[in-house]
Amino acid sequence: MLTSSSLQRETAQTTVKLRRLTSELRTDRLPLEQWQSRFTDTLRAAHLSAAEIAADGTLTPPYEAIVDEVLAEELDYLSKFADDLASGQYDEEVSPVRYTALERAGLYAAALALTYSRATILTRQSQGHTQAWRRLNALARSCKQCVEYQTFGWVGIDEVVAIGHRCACRGRCKCHISFR
Ligand SMILES: [Zn+2]
Ligand SMILES: [Zn+2]
Repeated sequence: MLTSSSLQRETAQTTVKLRRLTSELRTDRLPLEQWQSRFTDTLRAAHLSAAEIAADGTLTPPYEAIVDEVLAEELDYLSKFADDLASGQYDEEVSPVRYTALERAGLYAAALALTYSRATILTRQSQGHTQAWRRLNALARSCKQCVEYQTFGWVGIDEVVAIGHRCACRGRCKCHISFR
């Protein structure tokens, strides 16, 4: 099991790759279909790396199942993103959008935190830990979901909500899970 700084590095590299791909699409160097398939490949490889960072050794089927689940949801979002791109939602003359296409592309890297956290819970379980405690970071601005997910004490490891799960902070979440 590596440290979370390996995850931060993976997240930063993935952000760069996804933004670069999207920049190629936006400057007509990459057709939409190819963009989507390369984006998918980049995400899959990154989520496998995130699971590997949290795993104790090689990736066994339960880790691969986590990657498949998280990725399936991300690919749903990606097809909506592709639809928005195809419909010209990001073309300047159309109404302003909240994020630029490049910013929206980079946001996908944040979901690596969820794969990493779920894989970490699995690793701790396999190491014999049975309880977990999810705490807010007092110095961080936590979202509504994070406030709900804190546990105020030890709970069964199966009950704890992984970092990045349906949470508005996603990759910026500063919550912490301890295990015993
Ligand atoms: Zn949150
Ligand atoms: Zn949080």
